[in-house]
Amino acid sequence: MNKIAYNPQSLVADEFINHDEILETLAFADAHKSDWQMIEEIMQKARKHKGLTHREASVLLACEDKDVNAEIEKLAKEIKLAYYGNRIVLFAPLYLSNYCVNGCVYCPYHAKNKHIARRKMTQEEIKREVIALQDMGHKRLAIELGEDPVNNPIEYVLESIKTIYSIKHKNGAIRRVNVNIAATTVENYAKLKQAGIGTYILFQETYNRESYEKLHPTGPKHNYAWHTEAMDRAMQGGIDDVGIGVLFGLSTYRYEFAGLLMHAEHLEAVHGVGPHTISVPRLRHADDIDTADFQDCISDDIFAKIVACIRISVPYTGMIVSTRESKQTRERVLQLGISQISGGSKTSVGGYAEPEPEDENSAQFDVIDNRTLDEVLCWLMQIGYVPSFCTACYREGRTGDRFMELCKSKQIHNCCHPNALLTLQEYLTDYASPKTKAVGEALIAREVKGLSPAMAKYVLQHLDDIRQGRGRDFYV
Ligand code: SAM
Repeated sequence: MNKIAYNPQSLVADEFINHDEILETLAFADAHKSDWQMIEEIMQKARKHKGLTHREASVLLACEDKDVNAEIEKLAKEIKLAYYGNRIVLFAPLYLSNYCVNGCVYCPYHAKNKHIARRKMTQEEIKREVIALQDMGHKRLAIELGEDPVNNPIEYVLESIKTIYSIKHKNGAIRRVNVNIAATTVENYAKLKQAGIGTYILFQETYNRESYEKLHPTGPKHNYAWHTEAMDRAMQGGIDDVGIGVLFGLSTYRYEFAGLLMHAEHLEAVHGVGPHTISVPRLRHADDIDTADFQDCISDDIFAKIVACIRISVPYTGMIVSTRESKQTRERVLQLGISQISGGSKTSVGGYAEPEPEDENSAQFDVIDNRTLDEVLCWLMQIGYVPSFCTACYREGRTGDRFMELCKSKQIHNCCHPNALLTLQEYLTDYASPKTKAVGEALIAREVKGLSPAMAKYVLQHLDDIRQGRGRDFYV
């Protein structure tokens, strides 16, 4: 069989995620994982905070030396601080419907699962869910749906987004809706853009075509090229913030890691903008899914190393970890570069306004971190982070290359830090428990001191406005 040439600028899936290039990368990494001179050169490049290629990063991922790994972790922490500060953005997933026509063997929504409760929320139900989410303090959602052209057409998604943005309950508002729906057409992506979405998120699940086709035996998701080329169509449709990720556990992690970085390189090469976010979900137990059936599940140590290696390879990208991970694991990877986490999440359809009845289960996977949003916030602050509900960037047009320019020049801090403090104050005034409020007020007082005098004046004025009920939604 003829080899397919690797070309990061191509729009053809097998050319920009090139199987032979990945195999060569893995062989190169094995050959050089103890090549100290090469490792030192790669680390020198990484220390400049300009990122690494998939080949360079794969060598570091393969390296088993304790000292090198400790330095990778240290550098990951340093890069996270330089680009994203000590802020952590909070969001919640909202599952609108679990009807699905696909046959994904790792997901309980697969069409053959006849005993999982199928649910699709009406607009009235969505309103109730959004009110419950606003009452928790959330400002940013990621909506999730199974793929089903009859039950979940794009019109349903668009109507739901409109409903979500329209609800203003007490001082609450959902100010950014990110969307995680199956790969679709350029026309549909343009409609999502018009509806005012934030990031379009789509996990590749696995970059290995052979594994992909086995794991998605039936339904439209079986089409590897359609799925892999989705982000290019999203960008053609005008969405300039896209979020990528793989579901770790489905195939060998070193292959996935190289594929993930090649995808980021491809987006940069073609569109001039890399991924706005990279998610690192790990496969979890769910209704009829047993992780023991999957041979490639990864340990906590490997997971942490992957996070650190992504952080030093793609310094500008936001990195997301969900409640698929425990409090302990989340604490560990927050240090290594994560910039966004979900909190107080439900992975069932609905479930925020009223808990799901015990005899029904519509959840996509078991939530491991079951703490409330308030508990997550208090914990974050106690371990040295500033929780942020900020959604200002995309509302101010700081998306795509404009966001990347600010982020890469490490200027984004000037907007994000004041905005984080202002949105945290909204949370403290409107929703926090007394303990979280006390911890938060002390933290804000400390953090304001680090702002420039002009910015501190602006922030102090509006912190007071929020506390006194004179207004909300102040941002730079
Ligand atoms: N249906 C959409 C699609 O086809 O891309 C995406 C929405 S799906 C609700 C969100 C993600 O959950 C999937 O992309 C998959 O990576 C992840 N997921 C599915 N089954 C899972 C499991 N058992 N454990 C952890 N994550 C899972």
